[in-house]
Amino acid sequence: MNTILKPTFISLVTVLFLLLSVATSCAQDQQMEPEETEFYEPEVAKVEPGEDIFIDAPSDAIILFDGSDTDQWQSVNGGGEVEWEIEDDGALTVVPGTGWIETKESFGDVQLYIEWRSPMNMEHEGQDRGNSGIFFQSLYEVQVLDAWNNPTYINGMAGSVYKQTSPLVNPSKRPGEWESYNISYKAPRFNDDGSLAEPARVTVIWNGVVVQNNTEIYGPTEYIGYPEYEAHGKAPIQLQDHDSKVSYRNIWIRPLDNEQFSIQDHME
Ligand code: MG
Repeated sequence: MNTILKPTFISLVTVLFLLLSVATSCAQDQQMEPEETEFYEPEVAKVEPGEDIFIDAPSDAIILFDGSDTDQWQSVNGGGEVEWEIEDDGALTVVPGTGWIETKESFGDVQLYIEWRSPMNMEHEGQDRGNSGIFFQSLYEVQVLDAWNNPTYINGMAGSVYKQTSPLVNPSKRPGEWESYNISYKAPRFNDDGSLAEPARVTVIWNGVVVQNNTEIYGPTEYIGYPEYEAHGKAPIQLQDHDSKVSYRNIWIRPLDNEQFSIQDHME
């Protein structure tokens, strides 16, 4: 082969190879069933949470919802007004079919505190009973679901990183009772070429009990197939409309962007 044609041939081979790998990974997802990423073992132990499970916002928190209005939020469909209902008791309740909502502001590393309540829709079960969810950077879901006598796959129950990692224990309250999530989330880091430098991590404290302990997130939440990272920046927090009248209240957030001192930089 002559030397002028050689680079062209190499890039042609590269393009063909890339096309083939994209096609293969699409085909893999098409072949997979949702059940292939749903696991039921080991059993998650039930624990009874303590009395005090709610926390007021500290002074540097951004108040995302305090019962008065949804000014910090917009609909994910087209960015319009939030159509969820603000109830007399200060709860923001999903109106099924109106769609997901998201913060107007984008976030990376955060502490997010949120209180939630499963509706008493006992005629439903599993993933259809009190399903909602909190999506960090619009991609990574910490599941919200009725976890009181409501068996489902453990990596899809409340307190799970959905379709990834089950909670350490189940400190669930009964449906109709308020629960709390105090979550610290570290965004994934990407290299300049878009490859993953550091995966996202999440710590979830559910009703005062640690259920995710600095857990690695393996990529965006996928209902079917395996997660796979793609480079991105800050993005809104989203709350899911999953056709269930889940309620939220007392939502606040603290971006974790402050610099820290570390002795490591001073060690030989
Ligand atoms: Mg969900």
